[in-house]
Amino acid sequence: MTIQPEFSAEQPLEAPRLGEPYLLTPGPLTTAYSVKEKMLRDWGSWDGDFRAMTATLRAEMLAMLGQAGSEYECVPMQGSGTFVVEAMLGSLIPRDGKVLVLMNGAYGQRIAKTLDYIGRAHTDIDKGDYLPPRADEITAALDADPAITHVVVVHCETSSGILNPVEEISRATYAAGRKLLIDSMSAFGAVDIDPAKVRFEAIVSSANKCIEGVPGFGFILVRKSELEATKGNAHSLSFDLHDQWAYMEKTGQWRFTPPTHVVAAFIEALRLHKAEGGVAGRGQRYTRNRDVLVDGMRALGFETLLRDRWLSPIIVTFFTPADANFEFNRFYELMKAKGFIIYPGKLTVVDSFRVGCIGRMDHHVMARVVDAARTSLQEMGVASAAPPASALNERENLAA
Ligand SMILES: *Cc1c(COP(=O)(O)O)cnc(C)c1O
Repeated sequence: MTIQPEFSAEQPLEAPRLGEPYLLTPGPLTTAYSVKEKMLRDWGSWDGDFRAMTATLRAEMLAMLGQAGSEYECVPMQGSGTFVVEAMLGSLIPRDGKVLVLMNGAYGQRIAKTLDYIGRAHTDIDKGDYLPPRADEITAALDADPAITHVVVVHCETSSGILNPVEEISRATYAAGRKLLIDSMSAFGAVDIDPAKVRFEAIVSSANKCIEGVPGFGFILVRKSELEATKGNAHSLSFDLHDQWAYMEKTGQWRFTPPTHVVAAFIEALRLHKAEGGVAGRGQRYTRNRDVLVDGMRALGFETLLRDRWLSPIIVTFFTPADANFEFNRFYELMKAKGFIIYPGKLTVVDSFRVGCIGRMDHHVMARVVDAARTSLQEMGVASAAPPASALNERENLAA
């Protein structure tokens, strides 16, 4: 018997069967039909079959950390990604702790806002819209303030698409005797992170990003010794990571109603992730998606906000063209009519828009995205997609 490969880079992936547009957005994103199909049956949250799914989910997430995964625990939590970030911050940072927040976009800002809500002291390094935080600045900030206990960073800052240099950040953090927490919401499962190389205490992600599940829960991978020491830290019952973990260890169940259908879909998403070659395979597909997208868009005159070195395989920010006939809302509608939902920009200084590379789609689809962009420009009467000179000047600030 020959086993048919379920995934091959040359074999186009299935198109959305219900004729819905591709979501070129960083989650919720386009999922496989088989993932959606798993949501057609109901599960008792206390039943052995569902408890087995929870156990599978936890074990498989840890396996993605490689050998060092044995030192960590996986704690799933109900809610969107922000909920699990809040659970990580509130549970792992003692009430008298202090955080250095590394910000370069909206998700870093949200971390600082969360810390304000839950009453944890913080100091921030704010790099603006897209500059990466670097080791020397972190070292200086940590040397200057001995009260800082933790550093928090966003792995792929989804607002610009920058892939922050977590290895460098981790080294600077631990060299100064502090602990690192990572929001890897939009990167985990597609960008390799091995705790043997990049040390951290906890990393969070959610079901509806690179694992390609549907929204409804997130998960925290946390060093076991660290988790054990967090009892009593949490500011809130619902967000108490230790309590969720202790209950799950004891009963195999979630403390409160779990998103049963979402978990069932996630198990199928994990199966597809494995069939594709795990983190490496998924990362390769997304990288190829990005390369086809970026090459094609550049050929149309579009320019990326980031230089190649900082481009993630997750989402790409393009400057809005200078041509007076270009109007983003019109472009959005024209792209949607061709089957592609793109994403508005989130920068404060220059106009931009974003195109996600993640979700159940491949480079064949990305080539069609570029074609759709070309046709849409023609329909608007835009001769060149080149950005205004001011945008390019802005980019010159970006360190090499
Ligand atoms: C998606 C995302 C989140 C969580 O957002 P939700 O809307 O709460 O799911 C957090 N951080 C990053 C970097 C993200 O990409």
